[in-house]
Formats: sequence, structure tokens, C-alpha cells
Amino acid sequence: MPMICPNCLSTQIETKDYAKKAAATVGFLGGTASGIASAKSGAEIGSIVGGSIGFIAGPVGSRVGKWIGTLVGGMVGGITGALTGAQLGHVIDERLLDNYHCLACDHHFRTPLVFDQKETEITPFSNDAILGGVGRLDVSR
Ligand SMILES: [Zn+2]
Repeated sequence: MPMICPNCLSTQIETKDYAKKAAATVGFLGGTASGIASAKSGAEIGSIVGGSIGFIAGPVGSRVGKWIGTLVGGMVGGITGALTGAQLGHVIDERLLDNYHCLACDHHFRTPLVFDQKETEITPFSNDAILGGVGRLDVSR
């Protein structure tokens, strides 16, 4: 369903998603830090796995296992944090901020009009109706 500007009825609408982007970034950073901090268990698992590999590969295997455990913990935390932040930010964008911007008239607004395809018979704002109105005006003069 195309969104319509409540000011000029243009369909050239963009979403700004400022809160979504900001919250996703904050969530990613916080999630990464949290993931690394809580990756101690991951690092321990990595250490055990690395240790058993290290039995074959030497002491380097244990260090690599810890490093991989921390890296994976940080990545999982970062992704989880970014997704949670994006969801929270989306709610903020939709409910609190003027998230929509009309590219035609530069109007910023919270709730766009929505054109329902099923009700195409009722088109008081279509270009044909506007042009027809102008045409009748010209003829009457
Ligand atoms: Zn507009």
C-alpha cells in the first residue's frame, strides 16, 4: 500500500528511522561488550576444545580456542543487541517521532495517509480529478 503525504498527497515518502539506526548501533556496541564479557564461558569452552586440540596442536591451540570463544561471544552479543535495539528504535520512530518525510513538499509527519487499492472508485485526489477541475475552470472563463 503506497503511503501518501497528508500535506500535498504525494506518494514520494521516505522513512527517516533515526531512532532505529541509533538504537541498533547502541544495541550492537552494548551487545558486543556484553557478549565479550559473558564470553568467558565461551572462552572456557573454547579453551577446553582448544586444549583437546592443543593436545595435538600444542599450547597455541588453547589460546586460539579462547580467542575464538571470545570472538564468537562478542559477535553473537553484538547481533542480538543490534536486533533488539532496532526493534526498540522502530517503536520509538513509529510512536514518538515524525518518522516520515515527503520528498515533494519537505513535510515531516508521524502518520502517512494510506491509499487502499480496493477503494479505487473513491479517488477525490487523483491527478485526473485535479486536471479535470482545472480544465473546467479554464473553459468557464
Ligand atoms: Zn508532501
